[in-house]
Parts: sequence; C-alpha cells; structure tokens
Amino acid sequence: MSALLTLLDRAVAGQDLTESEGIQLIEQRDPQARAAIRQAADTLRQELVGQTVTYVVNRNLNFTNICEQHCSFCAFRRDADQAGAYWLSEAQMLARIQGAVQAGATEICIQGGLNPQAKRGGSSLAFYTHLIGTIQGAFPHLHLHAFSPQEVQFIAREDGLSWETVLRALQAAGVGSLPGTAAEVLDDGVRRVLCPEKIDTATWLAIVQQAHALGLPTTSTLLSGHIETPAQRIHHLAQLRQVQQVSRAAGRPGFTEFILLPFVGQSAPAVLRKRVGRDQPCLTDALHTTAVARLFLGSWILNHQPSWVKLGLAAATEALTWGCNDLGGTLMEEHISTAAGAQGGTAQTVADLQAAIRSLGRPFQERTTLYQPVASVQQKSRPGTQETGFGSGRASRI
Ligand code: SF4
Repeated sequence: MSALLTLLDRAVAGQDLTESEGIQLIEQRDPQARAAIRQAADTLRQELVGQTVTYVVNRNLNFTNICEQHCSFCAFRRDADQAGAYWLSEAQMLARIQGAVQAGATEICIQGGLNPQAKRGGSSLAFYTHLIGTIQGAFPHLHLHAFSPQEVQFIAREDGLSWETVLRALQAAGVGSLPGTAAEVLDDGVRRVLCPEKIDTATWLAIVQQAHALGLPTTSTLLSGHIETPAQRIHHLAQLRQVQQVSRAAGRPGFTEFILLPFVGQSAPAVLRKRVGRDQPCLTDALHTTAVARLFLGSWILNHQPSWVKLGLAAATEALTWGCNDLGGTLMEEHISTAAGAQGGTAQTVADLQAAIRSLGRPFQERTTLYQPVASVQQKSRPGTQETGFGSGRASRI
C-alpha cells in the first residue's frame, strides 16, 4: 500500500505516470487501494480545476441512422431499405434546432451514420458543408460540434479528397469543434473485433491531430469495459496524452475534455455479449477507470466528463467524486447509446443537472462547448479558444 500511496502522491503533485504505473492503478482490486485512488483523483481534480461542476445546454442531432458500416456494438444503424431507417431533411433539422435554441442551447452536436446517399448530388462534402452552412446561417450564435474523425474520413474517401481539405471546408462552413468519438479503444486488435470497418488507430489519431493543427478543438473518449485489457486501456490514455502534449507544445487547441463511455452491450451480437459477460456497465469498474484516467491524464486534459446516458444521472453524479468536473450536456435527444440498451435516458433538464451537482454541495456553472462560462460569453465561442478550468484550481495558473 505504501508504494501505491507514493505513486498517487506523485500523480497529485503533477508528475506524469508511466504506462506501467497506469496499469498498476487500473489493476487494483483491493477496496482500500481503490478508495485511495478515488481520493487522489478527487484531490487532483480540485487542484487542477477547483470545485465548480460545469454543464452545457446542447442538443444532439443524429441526422441519419443509415450507415454503410456494421460495428458489432451498434444497434443504431440501419440499411437504407430497412424498417426504421431515417434521414432528416434540412427543414426537420432546423425545426429541432429552433426548439433547442428556445430551450437555451448554445451547442448543437451533429453526428450521423455513414450514409452513401450523401453523395447523391455528386459530392459528399457539398452535402455536409451545405448542412452546416444552412444551420450556421439560420443560427449564427450556435456552436456546431460536428462530425467524428470517422465521418471526416468517410467524406474524404467518398470524394477522393484529403482529410485536410475536408476539415478546412467544414471549418469554413461553420464547424467549431469535432466530437472525439469513433475512438472506441485505440488498439487495432480490439477494433478488428468491435468495429472492423472503422478507421484504424493511426487514422483516428492523424485526423484528430490534423484538426488541432487547423485550430479545431476536439473532445476525446474511451469506450471501456468490454474486451480490452488493462494495458490496452492505459495505452489508449497514453496516446491521447501524447497527442495533447504535441498540440499544446505547438500552441494548438487540442482536446477540450475526456469522456469515459462505459460499454453497453444489451443489443450487441450474442457472441460479443457472452464474451463481455454483462449487458450494462459495471459501475465499480467505470468509477475506478474514471479516477485512473484523471490521474493518468494529469494536467494535460483538464476536463473530465462521465456519461449520464450510459450510467444514469445518479451514477454520473457519483463520478464527480472520482475525478470528474463536468456533467455533460442536456442532449435533448439521444439515440445511439439508447438503441444499444443504455438506461440513463435521452435528455436532462438544466434543473436536474443543477440539482444533481447541488446534491454534492458543489457550485455549478453553465459553460460553452469550449469551457467558457456562458454568463461571461456574449458571443459565440471561436474555434481555437484554449480550454480553461473553472474556479481556483491549479489549471488557472498553468
Ligand atoms: S457505430 Fe457509427 S459507424 Fe458504426 S455502425 Fe453504428 S452508426 Fe455506423
């Protein structure tokens, strides 16, 4: 135990842990050791970003569920001629966004299936940029958080363009940042089982770095708790940390946050469900991984967010005492995790998010996508804005 406490002291003091030290932490099973890890993560969170818990008023817009790929965990996708397949028109999307604006949204998160019909007008990129331009034209104050690295690669491949060309065009049309989804676990062996048609690890990392180089911030994620090993989990975090170190050194925006996405396998194929051994996330494992991620990512990624969609709001609130400082967004509609069997719901009200934070005796603050306090931001956040911490934490001094 004393060796563990020494290691935790070093992490809290701001030293980067090695991958083997990260594995030591993630492999701890002893309840006392896990309690010490939780305490250290909570202390580091307080040191880095203070007590304030943030949230964003946003709306998800999953504009189509028609997808050419067949990820083994995905119950959202449909073939074009399959029952339940949909592709929202621009009018339908604008109506939903109008409702979100009336509810106070500052962000629209736009992601969808990889739908080859996007190219029916001759250019996939034209479809995506027209969509973004239309939304931006109608709602210029909104931050558009849109299109994963997988979607960027899909557009580039369909049109025979470089990722840079696609990213530049999306940015010019009005995309302000990218969701760091489709990362799953950044290990090609795991990806061959979970999502064999998806971009590989190197491509995900390269597209994210290209986005950062153009001044587009991204988020970062880890899909945990399925077939990955402790070493693969930590190596994933190490790769995120490495990208952030490079982006920071170059003065680029980098990752704004880290989101742990515990695996929900209720609608996964039987063979995968059997291999994982459960349909819903293991809360103990999710909280432990939350704490280890905070300690391992240290001062490199300041903002950590649990997934209330996958864990439920009560468990996500508990994660705020395991190293998290952000409770995510209102979402207003969520389809992808819910289709997979997630039981956390599809929307949260601002009042519910605030009440959850208040139950811990901590202050709350609405934020923009780029972690600016909403009350002090009178205009849309600009791409390239650096992530910030709230409160009196060490991050405000680094
Ligand atoms: S996870 Fe995304 S890429 Fe994979 S099948 Fe589902 S919609 Fe398609």
